[in-house]
Amino acid sequence: MVEQTLVFIKPDGMAKRLVGQIVGRYEEKGLNLVAIKRVEITREMAERHYAEHAGKTFFEGIIASVTASPVVAMVWEAPDVVAIIRLMNGATNGAVAQPGTIRGDYAANFTDNVVHASDSPESARREISNFFPELG
Ligand code: ADP
Ligand code: MG
Repeated sequence: MVEQTLVFIKPDGMAKRLVGQIVGRYEEKGLNLVAIKRVEITREMAERHYAEHAGKTFFEGIIASVTASPVVAMVWEAPDVVAIIRLMNGATNGAVAQPGTIRGDYAANFTDNVVHASDSPESARREISNFFPELG
C-alpha cells in the first residue's frame, strides 16, 4: 500500500552537509519526494514530535539537539516507505547501526544520529501534520 513518511535531517546531519547524500540515497532507491523544506523546529514542535519520550532521561537532550539549528524536513511516498526508510537509516544508536545504512555510515552515537524517520504510518500522519500543516 502506498504510504507516506516524515523524514528530517537533524542538526548534526546538516552540520555534516549530508542533505544531498541522504536525498540521493532515497531517490536512487526509487522513493518519491513529495515535499521538502528547511525548518527551524520550535520547542513546541519538538515536544509534540517527541511526546512519546516525555520523561525519559534523554528527552531534554533530544529536544535541545533538534532545536539547535535548522533542519531539512521531507515527506517521502512509496509502497512500504515507512519500513524501507527505517531500514535505510539503520539502528537508532549509530555505534551499532550496520555499515551501509545512513546511521551506520555517518553516526557513532545515540544523540547525533543524523536523521529522523517515522516509525509507523500512524506516526507519519501525526508528524507530517506537525511539520507540514499546509499539506493537510
Ligand atoms: P528513532 O529515532 O530510531 O525512532 P527513538 O524514537 O527511540 O529512535 O528515539 C528518538 C531519538 O532520541 C533518537 O533518534 C535519538 O537521537 C534519541 N535517543 C533515543 N534513545 C536514546 C538514548 N538511550 N540515549 C540518548 N539518546 C537517545
Ligand atoms: Mg522514533
